[in-house]
Order: sequence, then C-alpha cells, then structure tokens
Amino acid sequence: MNAFPLGMDQPVEHGGTLPEDADVVIVGGGIIGVMTAYFLAKKGLRPVVLEKGRVAAEQSSRNWGWIRQQGRDLAELPIMLEANRIWKTLAAEGGEDLGLKTVGVCYLAENERDLSEYEGWLRDAKPYGVDSRMLSSGEVAEALPSITRSFGGALITPSDMKAEPWIAVPALARAAVRAGAVIIENCAVRGLDIAAGRVAGVVTEKGQVKAPEVVVAGGAWSSLFLRRHGVSIPQLSVQALVMATQPAPDLDVPATAMSGLAWRRRSDGGFTIAPGGWHRLHIGPDAFRALPKFIPQLRADWAGTHFSPAGPSGFPDAWSTKRAWQMDAESPFERMRVLNPKPHMPPLQKALDTFGDLFPALGRPKMKQAWAGMIDTMPDIVPVVDRAAAIPGLSICTGMCGHGFGIGPAFGRVMADLVTGGDVGHDLSRFRLERFSDGSKIELGPII
Ligand SMILES: Cc1cc2nc3c(=O)[nH]c(=O)nc-3n(C[C@H](O)[C@H](O)[C@H](O)COP(=O)(O)OP(=O)(O)OC[C@H]3O[C@@H](n4cnc5c(N)ncnc54)[C@H](O)[C@@H]3O)c2cc1C
Repeated sequence: MNAFPLGMDQPVEHGGTLPEDADVVIVGGGIIGVMTAYFLAKKGLRPVVLEKGRVAAEQSSRNWGWIRQQGRDLAELPIMLEANRIWKTLAAEGGEDLGLKTVGVCYLAENERDLSEYEGWLRDAKPYGVDSRMLSSGEVAEALPSITRSFGGALITPSDMKAEPWIAVPALARAAVRAGAVIIENCAVRGLDIAAGRVAGVVTEKGQVKAPEVVVAGGAWSSLFLRRHGVSIPQLSVQALVMATQPAPDLDVPATAMSGLAWRRRSDGGFTIAPGGWHRLHIGPDAFRALPKFIPQLRADWAGTHFSPAGPSGFPDAWSTKRAWQMDAESPFERMRVLNPKPHMPPLQKALDTFGDLFPALGRPKMKQAWAGMIDTMPDIVPVVDRAAAIPGLSICTGMCGHGFGIGPAFGRVMADLVTGGDVGHDLSRFRLERFSDGSKIELGPII
C-alpha cells in the first residue's frame, strides 16, 4: 500500500521519454488530468499527461476520500450522479482495488439553521434522483449508535461512497496508461506553445510537445499558468488539514461531518479525521486581485477562514513567486514539485479530542500522521470547465473547490468529449470561464 499522502519520496512510476507530439496534452497529473487522459485514450486518441512532481501528490492524494452527491451544487449534481456510476465501473473493471465502498455521507445538524439549510438542499436536489433524506434526532441515534451526544437531526445520503485517494488515483493513472495514455512525471510544463493565434503544443522543462489541444488541469497552479498567457481566473488556494489515526474498532457509521469535525473509516482500519471548515488563506497578489469576487464567500464562511499575511516561498500566490518567466528558463512549477504545506496542529488535536469524546468506546485513537493540502477554490465554489475562447485549442478544468475527488471521473469524461467535440451530456454553463468577466453576479454554491 502507498503511504499517504504521496510526495517526492514516491519513486517515479511514469518516466520515459517525452513524446514529440500528442493528440492532447494535459497539464497536471491529479484526478482530473488522469481521468481526462483515461477517457481520451478510450476514444482511441493519444493523450499525454505531464506532471511536474508525482501523480496525485497534491490535492488528489491529500483529500478525505469522500465521494458525495450530498450538498452538491445543483449544476454539479447530474455530473456527480454520473461520477458515482463511473467509480463503480472503474472499481469493477479496472483490475485494481480503489478502496471504493458505499458508506453513506451524513451531516449532523447542530441547530435549526443547519436543519433548514439541509432541508432546503434536499428539496432542490430530490428531483435529480438522489436518495438523500433527513434523519430525526432519534434516527441519528440509530444511525450512529455509539455516539455520546444527541443531535437535532441530520441529512444523510446512503448511496454516497468513499475511496482511498492515495491508492485510487495512482491506480487510475495505470488504467489510463493501459488504455493508451502516456504519463510523464517530473516534467513541469512552462507554458503553451502558441502559433498563428492558437495552441500548437507546450514547452516543458524537458523540451516541446506538439499538440493541437491542451487541457489545463493544474489544480492550485492553474491560475498562475494561465495568467502567463493572458487568461485570468480568480482562483485562490486555501490550506486544509487532515490526519489519519492508527487502526481502531469499526463503528459501522457513515462518513460524517458536524461543526468543526469530519471523519470516515479507511480501508486499513484507521479513521481519517479533519477539522472540517477550518482553512487558511495566505495573502498574496492573487488574493488581493480576486478579493472583491470572494466577498460573498467570505461573508458566508467568515468564521472558518484564517488569514496569514504571506504564503510560504514557492507557493503559487507567494509574494516572491514569479508571475512572468521565459520558456527557456526555470519556471515556478519546477521550483515546487509538490505543494506540501506544514500542517497546523492545534485544530487537528482539537478535532481528535472531539472525536474521542464522541466515541469513548474507541479508547482515544492515536494519531498516526497529519498533513495539509492546498484546495483550489473559486468565488462561487464551483469549478471552471470550459474551452478558452481567446486561445483556440485550450481547455480548462480546474478550481474543484474541495470536492473534485468524487466528481473527478465524470469531469474527466466530460473533458474528453469537450475537447473532441463530442456530447458533453450536461449543461456546463454554470462552469463557464467568462462568468467572472461578463458582469454575471456571483451565485454562491452550497457551503454545506
Ligand atoms: C484536505 C483536502 C480534503 C479534500 N477532501 C475531499 C473529499 O473528501 N472529496 C472530494 O471530492 N474532494 C476533496 N478534496 C478536493 C480534491 O482533492 C480536489 O478537488 C481534487 O483532487 C482536484 O484534482 P485536480 O486534478 O484538479 O488537482 P490536483 O490533484 O491538485 O492535481 C493538479 C496537478 O497538476 C500538477 N501541475 C500543476 N501545474 C503544473 C505544470 N505547470 N506542469 C506540470 N504539472 C503541473 C500539480 O503538480 C498537481 O499534481 C479535498 C482536498 C483537500 C486538499
């Protein structure tokens, strides 16, 4: 089993020589890039994924592993329903264990406000065919029999699932390679090669790859990458915290979130626990620029946001990070192979204590490992999934706002069709690039 999260100590699995050309180049080997490549290869095309560090070493191995329909923006919901189907097919036919299991996702209500928020979402989501439902206080006690506290109610989606991110995404990358994709790790893309006003390929630290189509799936780096080519997206990264406990008895409860705490059981018998809602925004030039667009989100989630005056050196929005660079010189992408923020321990310790108090039967599980990840977020909490009109041949799939692991396989399928002119099968207008520049009002997605 891989250690979690992944990092540069992971041996290179996808080496090899940089191809001279490809049908589609994908910038970034997270779940979005990997699944886009998988579906392009299934269409018989030659996609090449270029990853500056290791496959899945940033967000895609650092997340909680929740695959949830619950609480989704309504524009994402049909895509998430498709993602659930794809996950099951991948687990059944992929030949490798992804740690996929239907465990259900449950949000515990702390007060009337939570209850009415959950009820509102449920009312709107029901027509899409989700099996979500409200639980009464008594039903919560039945669903979580070992919990010591009572709650006024909960929202539960029994068909929601989990997978083990650090196992699943590398396995999906191998599935993409088996389908015909090429993946090269340790290969930073410095920028686009533009000829006659359209994409002609990419320039990497290892040389050029010619391609008529490029997909940017660079997670927290996408904004920096695109800005170099005059494409502006108000994307910021916030630090979030996670820990893994040592193996503990099975509580047989769903993946659950409540104020300040979220947990799920892993395949190895430990729990993944997080101080849900806690995040830190490092201020930098992008944060200043994007701030007006983020005001609705900050207003709605003020208590959970912690600010720091500067990001660590080398981070995408650090004050010292270069915004412009020559294609024949080192770029910010190769200076930071893997974003691996230092976890802030007090909120993690508090979350572990709360978890221990809720389930005394577990005998206070011990922390095995703690880590942090940079979540790439957008002002309206939904991603950008679009073709860039200003640069023909350029497509973007980024800004997954903390829930791209679960939906990743479906966005990969969508991207494969978007790039090849196929039927994307969903209304993508909510995810269009232009929404931040055409005067549209910021319509905040759910923060539940
Ligand atoms: C703590 C935490 C908890 C989360 N919990 C959940 C959850 O429970 N469920 C859920 O659905 N989602 C969750 N998420 C969100 C989820 O992990 C992300 O939305 C998803 O992994 C994003 O995938 P991605 O491929 O867009 O980005 P990433 O996984 O970040 O991958 C982008 C990759 O692009 C590479 N890259 C960037 N620029 C370049 C370049 N110029 N050249 C080459 N390579 C480049 C990077 O090195 C990186 O590997 C969580 C995230 C975090 C951090």
